[in-house]
Amino acid sequence: MSVRTTCPYCGVGCGIVATPTGERTADIAGDTAHPANFGKLCSKGTHLGETIGAEGRLLCPDIGGARTDWSTALARVADRFSKAIAEHGPNSVAFYVSGQLLTEDYYVANKLMKGFIGTANIDTNSRLCMASAVAGHVRAFGEDVVPCTYDDIDAADLIVLVGSNTAWCHPVIWQRIEAARATRGARLVVIDPRRTETADRADLHLAIRPGTDTALWNALLVHLRDSGSLDSRYLADHVATPEGFWNALSGDTTACDLAPADVAKFFALFAAHPRTVTLFSQGVNQSVRGTDKVNAITNVHLATGRIGTPGAGPFSITGQPNAMGGREVGGMATTLAAHLTFAASDRGVAQRFWNSPAIAPAPGRKAVEMFDAVADGTVKAIWIIATNPLVSLPDAGAARAALAACPFVVVSDCIADTDTGRLAHVRLPALAWGEKDGTVTNSERRISRQRRFLDAPGDARPDWWIIAEVAKRMGWADAFAWSHQREVFAEFAAMTRFENEGSRLLSVAEPDNYDAMEPVLWGDAQPFAGGRFPTPDGRARLIAVEPEAVVIDPAWPLRLNTGRYRDQWHTMTRTGLSPKLSQHRREPLVEVHPADAEALGVAADGLARVTTASGSSVYRVALHDGQRRGDIFVPIHWTDVTASLGRTGRLPSAARDPVSGQPGFKNTPARLEPVVTTWTGFLITRDAPGVPGCEYWTRVRTTGGWLTELAGSGDPAALEALLPAGERAEVSDQRRGMVRAVVLDQGRVAAALFIATDGRLPPRDWLIAQLAATEVMTVEVLAGRPAAQQADRGAVVCVCFDIGLNTIIAAIARQALTSVDAVGAALGAGTNCGSCRPALANLLASAALTPAGVGA
Ligand code: SF4
Repeated sequence: MSVRTTCPYCGVGCGIVATPTGERTADIAGDTAHPANFGKLCSKGTHLGETIGAEGRLLCPDIGGARTDWSTALARVADRFSKAIAEHGPNSVAFYVSGQLLTEDYYVANKLMKGFIGTANIDTNSRLCMASAVAGHVRAFGEDVVPCTYDDIDAADLIVLVGSNTAWCHPVIWQRIEAARATRGARLVVIDPRRTETADRADLHLAIRPGTDTALWNALLVHLRDSGSLDSRYLADHVATPEGFWNALSGDTTACDLAPADVAKFFALFAAHPRTVTLFSQGVNQSVRGTDKVNAITNVHLATGRIGTPGAGPFSITGQPNAMGGREVGGMATTLAAHLTFAASDRGVAQRFWNSPAIAPAPGRKAVEMFDAVADGTVKAIWIIATNPLVSLPDAGAARAALAACPFVVVSDCIADTDTGRLAHVRLPALAWGEKDGTVTNSERRISRQRRFLDAPGDARPDWWIIAEVAKRMGWADAFAWSHQREVFAEFAAMTRFENEGSRLLSVAEPDNYDAMEPVLWGDAQPFAGGRFPTPDGRARLIAVEPEAVVIDPAWPLRLNTGRYRDQWHTMTRTGLSPKLSQHRREPLVEVHPADAEALGVAADGLARVTTASGSSVYRVALHDGQRRGDIFVPIHWTDVTASLGRTGRLPSAARDPVSGQPGFKNTPARLEPVVTTWTGFLITRDAPGVPGCEYWTRVRTTGGWLTELAGSGDPAALEALLPAGERAEVSDQRRGMVRAVVLDQGRVAAALFIATDGRLPPRDWLIAQLAATEVMTVEVLAGRPAAQQADRGAVVCVCFDIGLNTIIAAIARQALTSVDAVGAALGAGTNCGSCRPALANLLASAALTPAGVGA
C-alpha cells in the first residue's frame, strides 16, 4: 500500500509517495497533491529507494562497543547524566541534536534539557546552517517568522538569489523559479562569488567578493533612497528606524569587486520590480557577519514595503528537512521553546505549561561553544543525536580531540560507522527515514507528516521514545509518559497556543486526525500582511549594519568556500548508498581558477592540498573559470570513512557570527599546493574494500560494487592485500610502473586493481560495468577496455538515465538540438527528476562545451 510521506533531505520539504515492493525496498514518486512540489522530486529524492536497505545500520544498543539491551543502555545513560548533574550541576551536560530529527523528537529533547535538567545546553546542527537567518528575523521582525511561502516565488517579477546554488541544493525550488521565468517572464539575479550552474542560468550574475554582501545591499538602499524608490508611507507606519540610520549608510560598492555597470543593472532591476523575492541561503548565513547580511537584506525589503504582500519578501531557504521544526520547538540553545524567549515572563509561561521543576535560566551553549566546553572539561556528559559533528563542525580536529577526552559520550544514530560514533561510550540505534513517524516543517512554514512504511530493523527505536525513556529513568516519568508520537505533537501544538493571545505568531492547531494530517502552513501565507509585526510596538526594525572589512593576509592568499554537490547529502551516510547518486562526482574536487592553478603549480586532475590555520585536506584538482581569482571551493561530503584526507571539516576556523554563533564556512583564508605522488591508481571491488594504506584514497559506491581512487609514493605492492581471495590474473610492466590485477570469483569479476606511475589509467565506467557482467574476458579487463572499442560517454550528467557529458555533446552537435526538451526527447536526459536540466541548458548555451564537466 502506498504511503504519503516527506523527503528527508533538504528544506524544500517535498511530498513523496512511497510504495513498498519488498521487505526493504520501495518505489518512490513525487506526491502530486503536496503543495511544496506538486509531484516533482530532484535526483536525491528520486533515488531514495536505493538508500533504505539495512546495510550499515546500527541495529542494537552497545556500551563500549559490546552489545547490550535497551534497559541496560538507557539506565547507563540516565545514571551517568544524573551523576554529572548531581556532582557538577546542570551545565555539565549537553545535547547536540539535528535538523534531521522530527519535530516530536526535537520537542522531547528540548523539554528534558530546558524544562527538567534546567539548562539550555541543547543546540542543533542547524546552528551551522541557518542560525543567522533566525537571529536576523528576530532583530527585524521580533520573532523568527519566515515572511514568504513558495507561492510568492510563483508571483514574483524579480527573484534575487543570494549565496544559494539553488539548482543543486534546492532543486525543486529551482524548477519553480524556472517555471516563473518561463510562464511570467520573471527576471533572475544571482549574487554569488562562484559562477555555479544556478548563476549560469541567471539574467544577471554578480560574482561578488566573498564577505561583501552587506556593502552591496547597503548601497542598494542608498540608491533606492536617492532615486525615490523607497516606500515612505510603509516606513512611517510600520517600521522603526534607528537614529542616524540613513546618514551612516554608504553607497560605496568598491569592496564588492563588481563591474559598476552590473551593479547599476541590479539596482535598476530592483527599483523597477515591486514584486521582488530575495531568497538567501548558506552563502549569507555561513558567515562571521551573517546576521548583519540577513538584516542588510531585510532592511531593503522593509524600506521598500516589499514584505507582507504576494510576490515580495526576504525568504530564507533552510538546508535540512526539519531545521524549521527545530526552531519551533526550541532545538536551539538561544530560544526556549515554541518561540518563547528567556525573558522572565516567557520562562514563566514555559514552566507553567511543563509544570517543570527547573526551567533553564538563560541561553545555553551554541554548537561550537558546546564543543569548546567539552574540550575544557566543563561539559562532562554529551548526547549527540542524529548528526555527525566530527565531520560537520568547523575546526573539526579540535572537536574530535575534545570528544575523545570527554568522560561520557552518547551517540544515537541509525548508522553504525560514523566518525562521531567511533568515540561513543554508549551507542543507541535510532529509526531512519521510512521507519520513523512524525512531522517536519519546511522552509515555508509548512508542517508535513513523515510516515512509516518500513519495519524497524533490529532493536532500532524512535528518537523521541529513547529520550523519553532516559527522562523517565532520571526521575521524571509523569512528564514524559507519552505512548505515541501523536501525543507529543499534540503537546507541542498546545504549547504554541498556551497563554498566547497573539503575542507569538507561532500557533499550531492540534490536527483532528494526526495520522491523516495534510500538509499545513502555520501562520498566514502573508504573516506580516497589513504591516503588523510581533514586536512590542508592532513595528519592524531597520538594523544598522556595517560592511565587513576585507583583509587579505599574504600568508593565506586564497579564500576557501565550501558547499554541496548536486546529488549528495551531508556526509553521504544515506545518499552514498545509492550507486546512481554517486556517479555525478566520484571524488571530492578542489575547484580553482585556471590562472591560479598555473601560478600555484597545480594541474588539472592532479592532487592538491588545501591548508588553513585549522588543518589541511587533499582533493583532486578541477579547473573552473567560474571561480573568482583567489577563491577555491571544496565539497563537504567526504569523511574519514570515505576518504583518507578529504574531510573538509578540518579546514574552516571556529570563528563565528557574534550574534547568531554561526560559523563562517564560506570564507576561510587558505593556501593551495600540489601534492606529488609517484603512482596513481584505482580499485574496483564487488564488496566494500578495506582501508588502503596509501597516502591518498577516496571511496564511492558504484553499480554492483565500489570504486576506490588511489595515489601514493610508497610501494604499491602493499595494495594487493586489498584484493579478495579468488582466481587471480595479473600483468605488470616495471619500466612503466604499471600493475594490473583482476580477481575472478566463479567466473565473475570480484575486484580489479590498476596502478601506474605515468598516470595512464583506463576509463572507469566500462570496468565498473564488468562487476555485473556474467561473461568476462580476463584479458579485456586487464587491458581496461573491450576488444571492440566503445565511445567514452564522459562524466555522468543525468544520473536517472546514466547519460554522460560526451554523449550529450555529440547528440547536440549531430542532431542540432537547441533546447533542453529536445535533448530530453533525443536521449531521455532531464526527463525524470530534472536535476540535470540546468546542466543541459548550460551545455546548450556554451560555445566551449569542454569535457571537464565541472560546471558549478
Ligand atoms: Fe528532497 Fe530534492 Fe525535494 Fe529537497 S528538492 S526535499 S532533496 S526531493
